[in-house]
Amino acid sequence: QPSVVFDNVVFGYDRNRTILNGLSFEVPAGHHVALVGPSGAGKSTIGRLLFRFYDPWQGRILIDGQDIAQVSQRSLRSVLGIVPQDCVLFNDTIGYNIAYGREGASEAEVTAAARGAALAPLLERLPAGLETEVGERGLKLSGGEKQRVSIARTLVKNPPILLLDEATSALDTRTEQEILATLHAIAENRTSLSIAHRLSTIVDSDCIFVLNEGHLVEQGNHAELLRYD
Ligand code: ADP
Ligand code: ADP
Repeated sequence: QPSVVFDNVVFGYDRNRTILNGLSFEVPAGHHVALVGPSGAGKSTIGRLLFRFYDPWQGRILIDGQDIAQVSQRSLRSVLGIVPQDCVLFNDTIGYNIAYGREGASEAEVTAAARGAALAPLLERLPAGLETEVGERGLKLSGGEKQRVSIARTLVKNPPILLLDEATSALDTRTEQEILATLHAIAENRTSLSIAHRLSTIVDSDCIFVLNEGHLVEQGNHAELLRYD
């Protein structure tokens, strides 16, 4: 699995306001790192930089030692999987929605992949088969079911790096705990970066950083950082 490194990253959306202010951290290969911080701290911005929706003003972002500025969008997207807070589902079948994560594959191919790609724990918790209609704006599915579809869509690509951006923040506490357990299992043999505003909504991590005003102010394990819960 690849490592992820932010090396002294400085970034803002406009020139007169810096959002990330010399941010440095490492997610060693195969490790699970979390960033917590208040709303507005710049957490989602980290994901946008990783996917190169924007580039840093200064500093570098490295995946497996390589500056992502030198990597093609295509290979970047093949190594990075994201589970966002709110996924947008198509008014189509569950199978189609999962298939969408697979560039260039036909729906039949992807449906077959979905059945085989260790998605069973996700799929067996959905109301019915892959042919079930999601319904307009996903209204036939609960929040937790939608999130399972979203996770399955990401997993079909089998990305070695997972970015969990407030992946469970929109769910009720019980569903959140179920999805966190699922994500924990899924992150097992990957490199993962979890981003959240509360400590209780991140997947078990080897190391947790606290982000404030664009840089890291504290580092510790879950027990040491309980006041951020
Ligand atoms: P967090 O995820 O920690 O809540 P974000 O990374 O979304 O924070 O945002 C950090 C700051 O950047 C916020 O003050 C937000 O208002 C600002 N911001 C986010 N996106 C944009 C944008 N597209 N243009 C200008 N400012 C933005
Ligand atoms: P693909 O390469 O198959 O398009 P991606 O993993 O790049 O899959 O993206 C999956 C979905 O997540 C897309 O809808 C994309 O727009 C969205 N997405 C990608 N990166 C981010 C991000 N940093 N924050 C929020 N949504 C994102």
